[in-house]
Amino acid sequence: MRVPLIAGNWKMNTTLREAVELTQKMLRDLDKIKNVDKVLCPPFISLAAIGELIKGTSIKLGAQNVYFEEKGAYTGEISPLMLADLCDFVIIGHSERRQYFNETGEIVNRKIIAALKVGLKPILCIGERLEENEAGRTEEIVTNQLNSSLTEISNITGLTIAYEPVWAIGTGRAATGRQANEAIGLIRHKISKLYGERVAQDLRILYGGSVTADNATEFMQQPEIDGALVGGASLKADQFVSIVRQTSELK
Ligand code: PEP
Repeated sequence: MRVPLIAGNWKMNTTLREAVELTQKMLRDLDKIKNVDKVLCPPFISLAAIGELIKGTSIKLGAQNVYFEEKGAYTGEISPLMLADLCDFVIIGHSERRQYFNETGEIVNRKIIAALKVGLKPILCIGERLEENEAGRTEEIVTNQLNSSLTEISNITGLTIAYEPVWAIGTGRAATGRQANEAIGLIRHKISKLYGERVAQDLRILYGGSVTADNATEFMQQPEIDGALVGGASLKADQFVSIVRQTSELK
């Protein structure tokens, strides 16, 4: 049985004060919801403060990015070692990082290796762009992304994958539950070829892309979908709590 996971990716939103206020708004309700892993991914500057706020609760913390070196002269970067003290999860390979910061499959791979080495749990994002989807290339794209991201990684314990079709992220144009279920089934099949059926059945694979309180049920009813990576709707306390609650009821 896979425990579902809902992660809120706040992206480059919220000042420290706003991040604390947003956490305070959802803390009590989120903490009460059972059978779902709940992960908040605020900007780096708020990790320590939110870590204090959620101490002793069932809520977990994640970062939105990480560098692959442990320490040194890399001005502006944050290392896996620094994060390991603060949080459990880290989002790696988000399409916005691939698009705006030129993150290649090789970089994503190095980040995953570095994160796993210090016990951080990576949430690896993969997904096709609109033109690739329209050309029927989804399988090819996600297969290539999986192969490059997981090169030379023999043990993926701790890894979560988020299937995030780029055309659905922040656009209000979500995939259908069926489309997402099919793509995630395919990803699980690829993982079973790489790591065996047992590992594939234990691996959590999330859907991400315009998930809201209004469409969450459609996704959580799907057997292959183990939760969601939520962007915009995770900035609204009532929306995020509702998505987590629906997940707990359906999974
Ligand atoms: C995301 O940031 O990973 C995401 C899925 O964003 P949104 O929910 O806003 O589409």
